[in-house]
Amino acid sequence: MTNTSTFETWQARAEALRFEGRAFINGHYTQASSGETFACVSPIDQKVLVEIAACDVEDVNIAVTAARESFESGVWSQIAPYKRKAILLKFADLIELNAEELALLETLDMGKPIGESINVDVGSTLRALRWTAEAIDKVYDEVAPTSPSQLGLVTREAVGVVAAIVPWNFPMIMASWKFAPALAMGNSFILKPSEKSPLTAIRMASLAKEAGIPDGVFNVLPGFGNTAGKALGEHMDIDTLAFTGSTAVAKQLMVMAGQSNMKRVWSEAGGKSPNVVFADAPDLEAAAAAAAGAIFYNQGEVCTAGSRLLVEASIAEAFIEKVRAHAKQWQPGHPLDPATKMGAIVDQVQMERVLAYVEKGTAQGAKLSTGGQQVAPVASGFYVEPTVFEEVSGEMTIAQEEIFGPVLSVTTFETEAEALSLANDSVYGLAAAVWTSNLSRAHRFARGLRAGSVWVNQYDGGDMTAPFGGFKQSGNGRDKSLHAFDKYCELKATWIKL
Ligand code: ADP
Repeated sequence: MTNTSTFETWQARAEALRFEGRAFINGHYTQASSGETFACVSPIDQKVLVEIAACDVEDVNIAVTAARESFESGVWSQIAPYKRKAILLKFADLIELNAEELALLETLDMGKPIGESINVDVGSTLRALRWTAEAIDKVYDEVAPTSPSQLGLVTREAVGVVAAIVPWNFPMIMASWKFAPALAMGNSFILKPSEKSPLTAIRMASLAKEAGIPDGVFNVLPGFGNTAGKALGEHMDIDTLAFTGSTAVAKQLMVMAGQSNMKRVWSEAGGKSPNVVFADAPDLEAAAAAAAGAIFYNQGEVCTAGSRLLVEASIAEAFIEKVRAHAKQWQPGHPLDPATKMGAIVDQVQMERVLAYVEKGTAQGAKLSTGGQQVAPVASGFYVEPTVFEEVSGEMTIAQEEIFGPVLSVTTFETEAEALSLANDSVYGLAAAVWTSNLSRAHRFARGLRAGSVWVNQYDGGDMTAPFGGFKQSGNGRDKSLHAFDKYCELKATWIKL
């Protein structure tokens, strides 16, 4: 999407915006049963935007009952796939019609630059919804090549009630990667957005209803992780739980599933992705620009952020100088200014977490190459400079733990074997990149990387056409592509004796 609005226009629109903070259950906006709310604070300037319904166990029970009833009734689960497709395409059209409002909500709520919200967040949500809706009446089931005296049918059936717990870094996109395939398959759906970024999910609920998604099929429950999130994790009547967020919470959700009804848990969790640059990279200037973009895009609040830059020692000094120069171009600015490349960190807690990692990096002996400070392009907001550490060794905390902020760790290597060993020295395996013009090395290295997405001579390629997810403690299952449907259906073998 292209948008030509100015800083002043966005500010004026933001002033005029009306916010909805209630939950959406069984086709209607409603307060939490307890009446409890919490403040939605913009990280841009700490302005309170609206009070949000703080859902808890009782609201989860009501939503699950509504979702179950709608599923059993067949109003959504039993209609022809092409009819679900038509409604989901209408849902996408309504999101597009309200693109500016949704982009503003995203930026005000979690601080990312408005240019990204409108182009990337709304754009990718539309692509996810449309691609998935278009696919659903084109995927066929199977007939098994079994004995002639049998007919073996292999069919996929919706699982039933699907809940999704999503994070705050790409609130709309992460939600759409779950709801698009879950709804397309015919499931009923409950979305719990992050308490730090509930606004777009709440707004999309009314668009889903307007598009014709029946009551009870699409519910949104804002609330905290240890209340609403936990209640979803422990519920006995949720069939599948799809999660994006930290590895620590993904593990807890797996335990909750084991202690309740063994609901299927799919998670896309943390990352500490290596970006490996060999001296023979085809274009070192492009590699340096990409290395900065890989960690500073979205304030570094990206699960696939290229947070570990591994550089061949022979070019390290010159290459780090280039990265530092690019880093300086990512200074934080006002998120509503279309010229801003880096916005606000989502909240004070996260900002302090990022700054604590910077302190730890210095304390453990890494060399602060640039940045490292809180800055104030907007008074009272939460902003951190683009930060680069050199001389980082593999065992340092800033090389091992996911910071989820604009902090890059640079390590040098001498040989390909050393580079691969450093790259894979992580509990995570979400993404990795390698830069080289040696074709054999590119393939060899890509094969050796233990990661769900591997990029060669680029950082962060991707599309709805390819699966996304992690190896190791970065999770299980895949979002996007036709593979995503696997998470939201059961496979049934039906044997007919002829
Ligand atoms: P992040 O650090 O990116 O916020 P979290 O894993 O803490 O990642 O949060 C991701 C999502 O998980 C949010 O919607 C949050 O409310 C939810 N969450 C956090 N703790 C729990 C929990 N104990 N049980 C269920 N959901 C949780």
